[in-house]
Amino acid sequence: MTTAPVAAREQELLDTVPTGLLIGGQWQDGAAGTFPVRDPATGEVLARIADASPEDGIRALDAAVAAQEEWAATPPRRRSDILRRAFDLLQERKEEFALLMTLEMGKPLAEARGEVAYGGEFLRWFSEEAVRISGRYGLTPEGTGRMIVSQRPVGPCYFITPWNFPLAMATRKIAPALAAGCTVVVKPAELTPLTTLLFAQLLIDAGLPAGVVNVVTTTHSGALSEPIIADPRLRKLSFTGSTPVGQKLIAQAAQGVLRVSMELGGNAPFVVFDDADLDKAVDGAMLAKFRNIGQACTAANRFIVHASVAEEFAARLTDRVSAMNVGRGTDDDVQIGPLIDDRAVAKADELVTDAVSRGARVRTGARALDGAGSFYAPTVIDRVAAGSDILREEIFGPVLAIATFDDEDEAVRLANDTEYGLVSYVFTEDLARGHRMIDRLETGMMGLNVGVVSNAAAPFGGVKQSGVGREGGLEGIHEFLETKYTLLPVG
Ligand code: NAD
Repeated sequence: MTTAPVAAREQELLDTVPTGLLIGGQWQDGAAGTFPVRDPATGEVLARIADASPEDGIRALDAAVAAQEEWAATPPRRRSDILRRAFDLLQERKEEFALLMTLEMGKPLAEARGEVAYGGEFLRWFSEEAVRISGRYGLTPEGTGRMIVSQRPVGPCYFITPWNFPLAMATRKIAPALAAGCTVVVKPAELTPLTTLLFAQLLIDAGLPAGVVNVVTTTHSGALSEPIIADPRLRKLSFTGSTPVGQKLIAQAAQGVLRVSMELGGNAPFVVFDDADLDKAVDGAMLAKFRNIGQACTAANRFIVHASVAEEFAARLTDRVSAMNVGRGTDDDVQIGPLIDDRAVAKADELVTDAVSRGARVRTGARALDGAGSFYAPTVIDRVAAGSDILREEIFGPVLAIATFDDEDEAVRLANDTEYGLVSYVFTEDLARGHRMIDRLETGMMGLNVGVVSNAAAPFGGVKQSGVGREGGLEGIHEFLETKYTLLPVG
């Protein structure tokens, strides 16, 4: 593993990243001073950026409120053109964004490039949706009234984003809000705020008017967010992060009956039937488990495999996983970067230790790696016993845990045995069985013989404690539109 200092090329990029708060079109200092952002592969400080106080947060909301009326009145074509320009600029600057994400979050550079492509698509998709907002018009059944149903922007929004997809979690919220005519305040995760700051500068470069997007970076997330959420001028809260924080925010939002969208935790089952194509299942498993170093809400958390194919599936995966290269995401041929911090390493280790103490077998890995940075060896364990913590909790690390089942009903029962319901993966060559699983698995999304489902054109979101609302697709823009009905007499 390398602990090379931040290279000159990296420093050059870091020097271009704004370090202030963006409020009303001006980069400003934070009233709470500054805080460091670190490279999780080395522990080195990459930059120091503004630390916003709760008062700064309210000033950001003031700016969003002040810009709301004019932005809502801006012709849809113009809003669309700005989003399209932002998409084009992102393509020009994709290498900068990819490297910055690798530096602050740790994912391998190839995956960071993939996130730029994925995150950018929300800008393009919603630039196209901005000009397709429409309503309906009709007579009442009695023929005495004319009904107009129109769509209006919800109003100023507050976004809280997580650290694991620093660009995509921002564009997935900001693009539909701007398309709908809403202004926003964004609070990125304190561990990975640099990408959002660079993206905010890109939006300015794309011609976005002052105050439409405001960014507050802070180490006081709770204290800053509470007064914003309590402010009656705020019309929408959209959060992506863990379920416990989401529950807290929903309770705060309830006071003002505030509209919320919640993209929360997951505990995805990955079900492999005895009729599955094992080549496809192994390829799908590698993607569903190890993308983003296992730190995705959509990461396969529980591999539920038919007993008759479990040994072969585990053996093939063990070969692939034990050959993975671990290191800093900037290094060539690295597939597994660092976890976000030492707490994440300790959590992965605790879950593996618990599973092993209940009888699981270690096929490869199962240990933290020594040296600088927060690294955990890519791991496969099988024969995981019912009741193990690893089957209930989000692992958020490169640990693949396999349990077995004997028949379809048992597979369904095990897959649904969780309070989460974000995504499931099913591998079967039996079409009728695939359709039955679509009906029976309690998740907002499903990958049938594929290991990644996200796409800007698709409605992303979960059921049960994985959240409320959808991001992306036709559904994504409706999260930022209010339906208004007007009645007028005929004649
Ligand atoms: P987190 O809940 O700890 O933090 C998310 C964001 O909330 C961060 O910006 C953080 O600063 C902020 N925050 C924390 N406490 C807060 C408070 N009291 N008030 C206001 N804001 C607060 O989650 P995380 O560790 O950053 O991200 C990982 C989690 O996010 C996982 O559970 C993962 O499944 C989930 N996630 C979900 C999706 C999805 O689309 N469903 C996508 C990515 C990540």
